Amino acid sequence: MKELTRSAQIGDIRQQNYSTIMRELMRSGPTARTDLAAAIGMSTGSVTRLTGALVRSGLVRESPEPTQRGTGRPKVPVAIDDSTYGVIGVHFGLHRVNICLSDLRGQLLAEAHTSERTTDFDRLVRSAARSVRKMIDGHSLTVLGIGASTGGWVDSAGGVVHSQPVLGWHDAPLAAALRELVEVPVIVDSQVRALALAEHWFGAATGVDNFVHLFVGNVIGAGYVFNGAPYRGAYSAAGGLDHLPVAGRSGEPCTCGSRNCFAMVGGDLEVARRARAAGLITDDQEVYDVFALAVNGDPRARRLLHDRAALVGSATATLIELLDPELVVIGGGITAPFDQVPVLRDAALAKLAVDRGGDAPARVRASAFGPHALGIAAAAIMLDAVYRSPEAYVSALTPSST
Ligand SMILES: [Zn+2]
Repeated sequence: MKELTRSAQIGDIRQQNYSTIMRELMRSGPTARTDLAAAIGMSTGSVTRLTGALVRSGLVRESPEPTQRGTGRPKVPVAIDDSTYGVIGVHFGLHRVNICLSDLRGQLLAEAHTSERTTDFDRLVRSAARSVRKMIDGHSLTVLGIGASTGGWVDSAGGVVHSQPVLGWHDAPLAAALRELVEVPVIVDSQVRALALAEHWFGAATGVDNFVHLFVGNVIGAGYVFNGAPYRGAYSAAGGLDHLPVAGRSGEPCTCGSRNCFAMVGGDLEVARRARAAGLITDDQEVYDVFALAVNGDPRARRLLHDRAALVGSATATLIELLDPELVVIGGGITAPFDQVPVLRDAALAKLAVDRGGDAPARVRASAFGPHALGIAAAAIMLDAVYRSPEAYVSALTPSST
């Protein structure tokens, strides 16, 4: 029993070391083993042994070019191997499922969309599984798993979508259903957390371990990364900011009865409602038409978007006060095509006390991705899991028990 515990502990430490090496290589690119050892505070001997196992298993490769050409022995750098394994992302949106294949560096290799008339859970999952299967069969990479995302309240640990109001899903067992059809590991999470992980691994927050991704579009929500890991909360509901009370007042009451809910006052739907009420757009036009007017210089459209950005900026200041993140990444319709992030940032900074620390203007930044990044963001859910526990996904890494 004691021996078992000890070998389990050794396994944990080995897993952690593999993870540390892979994260460092993802962050800094090709690195000589001696430099890698210095960067992560490990002995060169340990790094050589561990990278040897990572190279044999196909997660890391030796770079063809030595880093130094001067005197002494050339240093052969090691790098993340982007030619052996891949991960798949599946995003379930309204009328559209987006499927992406990414290599281990988060580079998009293939993308597919399916147009869906239905919101029926079984039919959507079956349709997505067919596209995923086709993508796996059409590429030479070994797919380690699928990250699946959708809006609403998603329980990653339980693999369940508790509530997805737009698709009408309740307690939908998404992870189990996809896993059964595609037969690879599946991790589900909310689309906002997926976006936060994508920013963390290959977007605007690479190398940042404490940040908030605030998504402002039709829906509003935050994805939190604390100490380098996603923070989901006790009931997986962290970041659901829909009913956070804010200073403004919505034209329509929220489902909860209030008129001060963040999603109602700050979301794209309210912008469209106000634009209609002001005669800027017709009844059958949408928020995109307001964006287009603003891009073309219409002062009333600009004023409307400016007011919304200021309101979101003030809520951003609240988030900074509460959580003290290094960075807030802003995503969604508020960033493009009419960039409202500068107004948002100024409103946030005006509200923040000057002695809060950090480089204040640099703390609010636009997302690195356009509004259609949800598929590749879903892949980041699985990428994050692989980097966190490589042994769980690549069995060649685990020493045989004989
Ligand atoms: Zn509400």
